[in-house]
Amino acid sequence: MSKVHNYSAGPCILPQEVLKKASESVINFNNLNLSLLEISHRSKDFVEVMAKAQSLVKELLNVPDGYSILFLQGGASLGFLKVPYNYMKVNGKAAYLNTGTWANNAQKEAKGFGDVIEVASSKDKNYNYIPKGYTIPSDADYFHITTNNTIFGTQLKEIPSCSIPLIADMSSDIFSKKIDVSQFDMIYAGAQKNMGPAGTILYIVKDSALGKTGRTIPTMLDLQTHIKKESMFNTPPVFSIYVSMLTLQWLKDNGGVEWIEKRNNQKADLLYNEIDANPLFEGTANVADRSNMNATFVLKNESLADEFNNMWQAANISGIKGHRDVGGYRASMYNALPLESVQVLVDVMKAFAVKFG
Ligand SMILES: *Cc1c(COP(=O)(O)O)cnc(C)c1O
Repeated sequence: MSKVHNYSAGPCILPQEVLKKASESVINFNNLNLSLLEISHRSKDFVEVMAKAQSLVKELLNVPDGYSILFLQGGASLGFLKVPYNYMKVNGKAAYLNTGTWANNAQKEAKGFGDVIEVASSKDKNYNYIPKGYTIPSDADYFHITTNNTIFGTQLKEIPSCSIPLIADMSSDIFSKKIDVSQFDMIYAGAQKNMGPAGTILYIVKDSALGKTGRTIPTMLDLQTHIKKESMFNTPPVFSIYVSMLTLQWLKDNGGVEWIEKRNNQKADLLYNEIDANPLFEGTANVADRSNMNATFVLKNESLADEFNNMWQAANISGIKGHRDVGGYRASMYNALPLESVQVLVDVMKAFAVKFG
């Protein structure tokens, strides 16, 4: 099998060794002669997986005391709804920063709950930048941000300072760089971009921030339900959690977030330098706001698209076609993508420029 350079935007590349261990667990988990998929989630063996996954999150992100780690279902898209349910007061107010499709979807879900203030939006330029210099209303119940805009290739390089509770969708850049969890009342992130397979979503929740809305919250949407039951209120998505645990262990074994941040910076520098130097391409995102995870770029001359597509496909590159909302190309460089894969893409772009430039 020849190596594929997998730039998929999500679900996305996972470390080969993780996939191998994961596949073994489907046949014979922990030498039980049983599959991980056919044992109770309350068995000692699975309870240990959950505990290990939670402790790895704490360790890798330096999560302070007073926060709970949950692995739930429903994806980030259900998270959009859980946010107002758990954090917006009855007749309350919430502030949102609209930096892309996902940010906008999050904001939409809050609209039925109270007053939703869009503090700023980059929609005017198809979300190709991160708005700055906005004012966050000090009487809002929370401020919601999306730290990385997967579709448009922008990323918040600094977390805005904020006097009200801060909530972040970090689906596509969690574990890619250091963060200060104490700045946030809640962080949520679907697994399938940087942590594991689709099917589970990580919540990092400041315990003391909950239970203040005066709302009746449906049991499954109430974060307190899951905190009380240590993420085992109902059957958790065992396989996704197991593979996420393996990926976090892989990250720790290799040097943790500090190591991956350096590597992610190297990968992004390598590709963006080529995008800027190459006469046939241009980046679509504002340079200062470029994402280290998803690099978006287009051909200056669209009529060369077939030629470029043939060349990257011949180099065993997969998944760089851009999202339909941006067009062109999107190279997603999540944690498990090796630097060598970025070099292969850069070499193709250089060869393409020699041939057609
Ligand atoms: C992919 C993505 C989502 C949607 O996640 P689902 O798990 O499919 O609901 C939300 N936010 C961001 C930033 C994403 O990248």
